[in-house]
Amino acid sequence: MIVVMKQGASQADVDHAVQRVRDLGLRPHVIVGTERTVIAAVGDERKTNKEALENAPGVSEVLPILAPYKVASREVKPEPTVVRALDFSAGTARVGVIAGPCSVESEEQVLKTARAVKQAGATALRGGAFKPRTSPYSFQGLKDVGLRILAAARQETGLAIVTEVVASEDVPLVAEYADVLQIGARNMQNYRLLEAVGETRRPVLLKRGPSATMDELLLAAEYILDRGNEQVMLCERGIRTFEAHTRFTLPLASIPYLHNKTHLPVVVDPSHGTGHSYLVPQMAAAAVAAGADALIVEVHPDPETALSDGYQSLNFEQFQRLMDCCRKVAEAIGRWL
Ligand code: PEP
Ligand code: MN
Repeated sequence: MIVVMKQGASQADVDHAVQRVRDLGLRPHVIVGTERTVIAAVGDERKTNKEALENAPGVSEVLPILAPYKVASREVKPEPTVVRALDFSAGTARVGVIAGPCSVESEEQVLKTARAVKQAGATALRGGAFKPRTSPYSFQGLKDVGLRILAAARQETGLAIVTEVVASEDVPLVAEYADVLQIGARNMQNYRLLEAVGETRRPVLLKRGPSATMDELLLAAEYILDRGNEQVMLCERGIRTFEAHTRFTLPLASIPYLHNKTHLPVVVDPSHGTGHSYLVPQMAAAAVAAGADALIVEVHPDPETALSDGYQSLNFEQFQRLMDCCRKVAEAIGRWL
């Protein structure tokens, strides 16, 4: 439920209502908005007598949250959440751009890519050090060596580092190096992992599972939010359908849909979403047109020789052209890159 405070409610009133929520066996999340403060009270409400809370000082009303997800819901927080990491942001008029290789392969590969994507206007560098591969025989990533290479690229370029964490036990190590923790599509419903990143205060990029519904994606985000980490971005990266001409099917209606349901920023991954480099620039532009708050794009110095996802990676020149095109689209809708 949502405890809506009156406009002039004092801090003591808020603290009192928070304590009452705890007494009811619920977890309070205080959301200070521009107009009013609300307390999202989450947990099992069946045994609570919530009406009594309306009598607490400074409380305006107590409402049920209709959506199955609670803290992620727009009902609780109408204003968009802004996620920030160094110069990267998602959720403002500026569209964030995360670019880089699928996997960290070598220091030279990462540094070359970091310089090129920064030059083209990206504000964050992606690159997997721990790779969740479909086959156990495929390249699994450079792991801690890869993390140190990413940190060197941040040191030189100032780009924020976005990298995947695949297991709860790796969260402390990856969080030491990463500015944004990526939860991959395969792990969207790994609830212990979601709780572990929810315990950190690092921003999280949560990718949609290839067969997850929007409600399942939002409930996965809820696991992170419920642990007190409010810096969560949702990433549409394509879903599995009967259609085989693209690697996945990229449903761009997810962007306005999610904006309608949640305050969390929406990121689009046109690389995994299409699986073909020649489809990536137009789908990136379409995502910006549809209101994406950020893009995540695979870029490699020589896609032909990439150790993973080369077929969907752009070279530097193609990425530059993508940026030029997305910039124009962004300007047309009152945003910028
Ligand atoms: C990736 O970003 O390289 C990746 C593995 O993505 P996804 O989890 O969306 O498949
Ligand atoms: Mn990839």
